[in-house]
Amino acid sequence: MLNTNSHMSTVIPKILIIDDDTVIRTSLRINLQKAGYDVDEAENGKIGLNKAKVFQPDVIILDVMMPVMNGNEVCQALRQDLKFLDVFIIMLSGKSNAEDKIHGLDIGADDYISKPYNPKELLARIRVGIRSLEAKRLAIIDSLTKLYNRYYFNIVINQEIARSKRYKIDLSILILDIDHFKKVNDTYGHAIGDIVLVEIADIIKENIRNTDTGVRWGGEEFIVILPSTDIEGSAIIAEKLRSKVETSSFSKAGKITVSIGYASFKNNEDDLFRRVDRALYKAKEAGRNKIVAG
Ligand code: GH3
Ligand code: MG
Ligand code: MG
Repeated sequence: MLNTNSHMSTVIPKILIIDDDTVIRTSLRINLQKAGYDVDEAENGKIGLNKAKVFQPDVIILDVMMPVMNGNEVCQALRQDLKFLDVFIIMLSGKSNAEDKIHGLDIGADDYISKPYNPKELLARIRVGIRSLEAKRLAIIDSLTKLYNRYYFNIVINQEIARSKRYKIDLSILILDIDHFKKVNDTYGHAIGDIVLVEIADIIKENIRNTDTGVRWGGEEFIVILPSTDIEGSAIIAEKLRSKVETSSFSKAGKITVSIGYASFKNNEDDLFRRVDRALYKAKEAGRNKIVAG
């Protein structure tokens, strides 16, 4: 699972094995640990799904025929959750006919290997999976700040808006813009400006929840998607971010402030963006270093 706070290429990949066969599970675990991976295991689909949320694996090796919740059901549940967008799922199944493989791949598995399997081939396929994850992550992460980029923002906001409409749950967003950032660049140079952007991104990461999505919208503007958060809740987060920035000392540029507009989704997504944008504009007009509701 993607963790934007970590540097993906420097951490040991995590693999979760979900299989009800103890012998297979154990031999797999030993092989994968020998190959240098961080491994966890689960004896059925339901336990596996819960472990995946906590362990945040990069690769899941998934048996298909299991009690409680089978591999196909686990795969579908994982693919419905954006948090698992970039998990590489390898089905490892005793079912080896083409129809079973096609079904597994069609419901979201990235690869399908039949039992009995060749351990070396499995390791090679895991390496392929990890390579493809890195490419996927590059496509959704802003390379400077390691926050999500605009492309990923569009995926998440569409899903959150659909969820908010369907289940009538709150949804808010905030937009944060650095005050007089041009002056930072002009005074200290573009490289120091970049460091400030990274430091602001770190403040955002440290002060939002796991379920929130921090995005670099572009330039010196950031967006945070706040699911299950009403207007009062988003005011608290906006104020927290504003004051954290104000009271932080930036390593090279001294004092920085930000202006924030925030708004809750009502019924029309275009309106949400218009309102939050206008709120940001008002915060700037009111003298900057302010939060304004839209
Ligand atoms: P305001 O308080 O009204 O927001 O003023 P501002 O100077 O922050 O806003 P303006 O939109 O005039 O300038 C934004 C500046 O952000 C201009 C641009 O050079 C700078 N910028 C945009 N992207 C980057 C980047 O990736 N790195 C650096 N160092 N600067 C950037
Ligand atoms: Mg701007
Ligand atoms: Mg600005």
